[in-house]
Amino acid sequence: MELTDLLAALVAADSVNPSLVPGGAGETEVAGVIDGWAREAGLESERLEETPGRPSVLVRARGTGGGRTLLLCGHIDTVNVEGMTDPHTPRIEGERLYGRGAYDMKGGVAAALIAARDASRLGLAGDVVVAAVADEEHASLGVQEALRNVSADAAVVTEPTELELAVAHKGFVWSEIEVTGRSAHGSRPHLGIDAILKMGAVLKELEQLDRSLADRTHPLLGRASVHASQIEGGVELSSYPAQCTLGLERRTLPGEAGPEIEAEIESLLERCRQADSEFQASHRTLLVREPFEIGQEQELVGLVAEAAAEVLPEPPKITGASYWADSAFIAAAGIPTVLFGPGGEGAHAVEEWVSLADTEAVARTLVALAARICA
Ligand SMILES: [Zn+2]
Repeated sequence: MELTDLLAALVAADSVNPSLVPGGAGETEVAGVIDGWAREAGLESERLEETPGRPSVLVRARGTGGGRTLLLCGHIDTVNVEGMTDPHTPRIEGERLYGRGAYDMKGGVAAALIAARDASRLGLAGDVVVAAVADEEHASLGVQEALRNVSADAAVVTEPTELELAVAHKGFVWSEIEVTGRSAHGSRPHLGIDAILKMGAVLKELEQLDRSLADRTHPLLGRASVHASQIEGGVELSSYPAQCTLGLERRTLPGEAGPEIEAEIESLLERCRQADSEFQASHRTLLVREPFEIGQEQELVGLVAEAAAEVLPEPPKITGASYWADSAFIAAAGIPTVLFGPGGEGAHAVEEWVSLADTEAVARTLVALAARICA
């Protein structure tokens, strides 16, 4: 099966992430397509499924031995299909393939698989391993499981980068702040402490913090930021609310770590306490996803640029990705990593497509990269 047919088969397999959409199909069907394709192509295929219904697949093009291993990683889950007509019926128009997941990121997965197959015909010493992983759109179960089962000397995450070479992306920290007041009948102000009003001080401090973060910038990623995402509190109109909870998201730049962000929020709450003796609040961190960056002087960056220049009219632009991706986990495991993938449009949107010419160019680039790394 060639690239376009393989991509169409991946898009046709519903793989909506069930952690995002209750009842979502999960990765079982799409993992089956990959497993079947790999065996037919003469590649080794191993299914990982620590979490039932959430399989990932490791496809290995084994080398002759003694060479370096190149890991190609892409996620096989997608977000919801709300508002889409026939999200899982791939449609080709000109050089675009439409369908849920085509761009984010079954195009990149198909390119990686074809590249592994073609690399296997070059008689390279090292292995090319494709990790087609579950659950990137939620908790990244798949990449974490894959990293417990595979080691590599270099990695490319084939998320869509418009054929640019992404060497950094932001991280994020999700936290929750809970302000505690005292409930009382609305007619008895001397007894009540309004937790929602007290949260106002937190919101003002957050706005101030976000303004100050505008000065903290990264040449490829822009500024760090914080925003309030969700707020909840109160029981009924006639009562003072005893509780108000705020969910917030801090987008982080390389160099900003989880503990530093926790301290930032703690000192924000401390300022509220200093200003108001009745202010009572606590906070907890819900999820930390690290930012990612690889030094541009690293060998892998140069090799991908060289490989791409063999395929594209000019060397790829070095860039940062605006989204978070599994690359952070792979880099944290000590494997030099970059992102390089096709162009298109509509990640998480109603109309999604990937460029077939770009997807082909990604596959060719990855083969040229494998020839350099796994020789
Ligand atoms: Zn993605």
